[in-house]
Amino acid sequence: MVRAEGVCKNYGRLEVLRGIDLEVAHGEVVCVIGPSGSGKSTFLRCINHLEKVNAGKLYVDGELVGYRQRGGKLYELKESEVAHTRRSIGMVFQRFNLFPHMTSLENITEAPVGVLGKPKAAARKRGLELLEQVGLADKAGAYPNQLSGGQQQRVAIARALAMEPKLMLFDEPTSALDPELVGDVLGVMRDLAGQGMTMVVVTHEMGFAREVGDSVVFMDEGVVVEKGDPREVLANPQQERTKAFLSKVL
Ligand code: ATP
Ligand code: MG
Repeated sequence: MVRAEGVCKNYGRLEVLRGIDLEVAHGEVVCVIGPSGSGKSTFLRCINHLEKVNAGKLYVDGELVGYRQRGGKLYELKESEVAHTRRSIGMVFQRFNLFPHMTSLENITEAPVGVLGKPKAAARKRGLELLEQVGLADKAGAYPNQLSGGQQQRVAIARALAMEPKLMLFDEPTSALDPELVGDVLGVMRDLAGQGMTMVVVTHEMGFAREVGDSVVFMDEGVVVEKGDPREVLANPQQERTKAFLSKVL
């Protein structure tokens, strides 16, 4: 579902991604761990072309992200063409970024109606189903400031799912939450994984990585240092850098 080949990204002279190679299979849940500044968020942003790579290639569902290849040359896609790929990728950030002047249901139906042109009634029906799925059937009419952080994050997940994505990217979705609210959000993500969604999850939640992840990726200094079965990697890391990192966080 995702293939990264030698992905590099610089900001000026700062080399943030230095040749990322990674495959994510259809239906796979990959948890990405690694120190602050190792390029985890940047990599997620490259997957949906919020950032342009400086070298290497990224494919989502077999399609080259951001470029068209013709006669061995790469041509950059127009914003409108990139938008097509981006619509098939849901992204959930640390901060919930809901529209404050819209109810939960309006937040969820806005893009399906406005972007996909879905009929309003159908979007509402699907929106209510999604609210049910994230355990917030009774909060359809609530505004973001009437919801807890965990509830807002679950609305944000429902909003991403309303676009019927092929792939979901999560960037530390629980790290801005009070500890007692983390479990509900992880529960929703666990259900989603159980339904077969392909997910790339940057997280500090090692329990989640161990129990829900099909694999864990350890990133450091802009490269994938190690990828493997979470129980293997977390209990018995092969690389020194992984060992050093885990000894600090576990
Ligand atoms: P954290 O765990 O703290 O979220 P991260 O692994 O997600 O870290 P990134 O946010 O990808 O790390 O950042 C990697 C490096 O790139 C950092 O040194 C950061 O300062 C730098 N960086 C990120 N975005 C930009 C930008 N837009 N302009 C310049 N530098 C940037
Ligand atoms: Mg980050």
